[in-house]
This record gives sequence, C-alpha cells and structure tokens, in this order.
Amino acid sequence: MAKGFVYLVGAGPGRADLITVHGAEVLKEADCVIYDKLANPALLKFTGKDAEIIHVPKRIGKGSATQEQINKLLVEKASGGKTVVRLKGGDPCIFGRVAEELVVLAEAGIDFEIVPGVTAAVAVSSYTGIMLTDREYSSQVVFVTGREAEGKQDSNIDWSLLAKFSGTIVFYMGVGNLDFIAKRLIENGMNKETPAAVIQNVTFPSQKIVKAPLDQISYQCEQQGIEPPAIIVIGAAADSDARLEWFSKKPLFGKNIVVTRDVVGNADFAAKVINCGGNPQEFATIKIKPLTHKNEFVRALAKINSYDWIIFTSGNGVAIFFEALQDLGKDARIFSSSKIAAIGDRTAAKLNEFGIKADFVPSVFTSEQLGKQLPGFANLKNKKILLLRSELASNELVELLTEAGAEVDNVSVYTAEEEKGESSWLVEEISKGIVHWLTFTSPSSVDGFFNQVPCDLVNKSKAKVASIGPVTTERLKELGVAVDVTATEHTIDGLLDAIEECYKSRLAN
Ligand code: SAH
Repeated sequence: MAKGFVYLVGAGPGRADLITVHGAEVLKEADCVIYDKLANPALLKFTGKDAEIIHVPKRIGKGSATQEQINKLLVEKASGGKTVVRLKGGDPCIFGRVAEELVVLAEAGIDFEIVPGVTAAVAVSSYTGIMLTDREYSSQVVFVTGREAEGKQDSNIDWSLLAKFSGTIVFYMGVGNLDFIAKRLIENGMNKETPAAVIQNVTFPSQKIVKAPLDQISYQCEQQGIEPPAIIVIGAAADSDARLEWFSKKPLFGKNIVVTRDVVGNADFAAKVINCGGNPQEFATIKIKPLTHKNEFVRALAKINSYDWIIFTSGNGVAIFFEALQDLGKDARIFSSSKIAAIGDRTAAKLNEFGIKADFVPSVFTSEQLGKQLPGFANLKNKKILLLRSELASNELVELLTEAGAEVDNVSVYTAEEEKGESSWLVEEISKGIVHWLTFTSPSSVDGFFNQVPCDLVNKSKAKVASIGPVTTERLKELGVAVDVTATEHTIDGLLDAIEECYKSRLAN
C-alpha cells in the first residue's frame, strides 16, 4: 500500500479563524485529524464529514497521551495510506516537540509538510497591544520555556543573561512557575519594578490580562485566578498603552451568549457572536428537515411559471429550495418572469448567493409587514402567489395577501423538528449565573429549548433573554418567560445590535 502523507499544521493561537488559509485547506483534505489540547475544536468544522478525528490531549496526569503514543499513532495512520493532519496549537515549531514527530516520520519513510501557524506570543501583541518589539524600547525578543525552569539540574536557561536582557522576554508554559521565574530574574539582578504582564487565553473571549511589577506579578495572578494557557511578558513592553487594546473593548467582549437554532444556524450565529467579542455557546434545539420530496412541493415546482410572485421568508427556505432545484438538475432560470419577494435582507442576501435579486423586501422584516407592504408595492388583484416557507409558519401572511385579492399557494419547503441533546451543562451554567444571554430566533426553537431547560430556572437566573422579533417574543411570553429585549430589526445582526444596545444604555452589565 502506498504510504500516506502527514501535514503538521499550526492551529493558530486560539480563535478558529486565525488558522492560515493553507492550514484550513489541508484540513479539508485530511482522512484523519489528530489534534491536541490547545487546538480549538471549532477548527474541526473545516474537516470533511468522513474524516477520522482523534483527540490527543497532552497534559500532566492521567488520561493524556504521551509523546511516544502520538508518534506511534502518526506513523500507524500514515502507513495505512492516509492523509493525516497533525493539528498543533499556535505554530507547530514553537515549543511543540515537532522535531520528535518529524524524526519518527522520516525514519518510517513517510513524507510530511509543515504549515506554520500564529504562535501565542505573536497573537498577544495583536490582541492586547503589548508590543513585543518597539523601536523605542525593545529591539530584541526572546522566547523562553517556563516549564523546565524549576528543579531542572542542567537547565538550558541562562538566568543571568535574561536578567540583563534589554528587550522583551516571553515565557511560554510558565504560569505554574511564575513565582520562581520572577525570583530567579530578580536574584540575578533584574530590577524588581520591571513591568510584567500575563495574558491568559489570548484571542478568546475569555482573554484576561494581569499587569504588575515583576516582584508582584505572581501574587496578582494568583489573586485573579490566572490559569494556563497563558503567556508571560517581561520588560518595558508589558507596560503597554491601554489605547492599543482593541479586543477587550469589543461590545460583547467576554459575554457568554447561548445560541439556540439548529446546528447549521448556530454555527452561523456563533461566528457573528465571536466577531462582537462574545463567547457563543451552541445549543441546538431544532433540526431543519426539508419537505421538498413531497407532492405539494413537486406540483408547485411543475407550474412555477404560472406564479406572478414567489415569496421566501427565511434563508433556510431559500437554501433548501435551491438544493432541491440542484437535485432536479434545474437552476434559477425556472423563475423566468415571476417576481420575487424576500421577508428581510438576510433572506434577500441568501437569494443573491444564487444569482437572484429580490424585487421586494419590506422595511420591517416580519410576515405581517410583508403582507401589509407588498400590496402597496404591486397590485395583487387576481395575481398568483407562491409562498415557499416553513410548515410551522402562521397563517397571517396568507390571510393578508388573500385580502389584497391574491390567489395564494402556501407550500412548505421545510419543517423544524425538536432536537434533544445533552442539556445538563447548560442548566448548570445558567444556575451558576455564568450565562449572560439566551437568544431565540423562532417559536420552534423556544419550544425546543424550554422542553429541556425549566422556565423557572431561567426566570430566576441572571441570564437575560433576547428575541429576534414579535412572534418569537409572543411564544416566550406564552410560556411565562420574562423577555428582556426584542430586536427591532428581525435578523441575527439585529438581535446582536439589540443586545449591544443594552450594554450601551446600561440595561445590562
Ligand atoms: N506551539 C504553541 C505553544 C505550545 S506550548 C504556540 O506556538 O503557541 C504551550 C504554551 O503556549 C502555553 O503554556 C502558553 O504559554 C502558550 N499558549 C498557547 N495558547 C495560548 C493562548 N491561547 N493564550 C495564552 N497562551 C497560550
């Protein structure tokens, strides 16, 4: 059997989309992905659906994989002819024991390639404003391991040289030894007032920074509960200009925001939360199930030319409709002369992905407003309208369009079924007051959620509740849930804007 190939890929410092383009590309091609503790599991979204995923957490203590076991696994998988991606936190070659893995591969005659990644220290500069180099005060930087520091007889660390070093000293893996590191430097002549900073979870919404003079940094970190992984920066750089720190000023920085759509919708929502600095927690409450195999849909498609207007009321509806078209070997030309309406700008944007420009989008993105505004835009008398939407949508839109004189075919392209998953972690987080926001984007996800999480618990907790629009809010109220905010623009972006607004107006803190 032909030998496989191993890519050693830098996963980047944390946030999933900080992997390189090439790293994401090879992940897509991998038959097998072996990833360690520091590689963000969210990166697995780049892998193909058939890829074998193996987690090899390397930590001190039980249940962890040894370097020897990992080496063996790499050779075993690649010898079987597979394309293997070994995903390592940060850059594979910075304190990553990568040479040991490469030697084993070379000895086994397995070809490999290394894909660099953004190492944690470099991300510290970008995400905290602590500039490792600066033409004024730091023309040199040194990266040091903090792990071999204590107790090692033949330490390679030259403490007297470091104590005199006029530049920036960066320690990786040093949190457990911070007190020792600071003392060694001071003993060797470094000024005890030298600025120091410790940055935990850089690039994540849980990022924390502690700054103090060298002789107090260990105590301060203990007080503030700093834990690994963290980077230690020592030198003038650590006394950084707070104005350069953009990340922690993001509107939803550090806020735990639970998203409750289906798996695909949650991933989309989560990416937006991350862009606002928040920490998304994905909890799927529904499963979207296409209904495009049903006669009702197939019949509507067969006479699609006869409709004057075709209306889409969600991005899901658009995506599932075009998937069905694709399966039937057809494309957007089937719309020919029909006009197209979308409920809101996200649905219109989804149509755009398939080359369709919506002829009408109401100014307020609800079914009610669509039904009220479309008759003002076009004469609907005796016009034939095809509604392509969820089986669960209310009848209001049909009624409004019928009142305007139209003949309406209301055809379901999908439905939402309840998804039941593991909910104990979420119940625990809500009880502990860790969750800042619970977000809801449809009545069906409200039902799916509260069938798994007690309403009382939510009402009594610190968690605030945000709803995408009036229909979802109504369902929440029917169940007795106290709603803190309803978005004025009924899209995911609108929902996030509404939450941000609460912080600006201090309705939340
Ligand atoms: N190859 C990795 C480093 C592995 S050693 C890289 O290039 O980043 C592990 C150490 O990296 C941790 O102990 C910590 O010092 C640092 N580290 C990794 N990810 C980090 C993160 N998100 N925030 C802070 N430090 C991190």
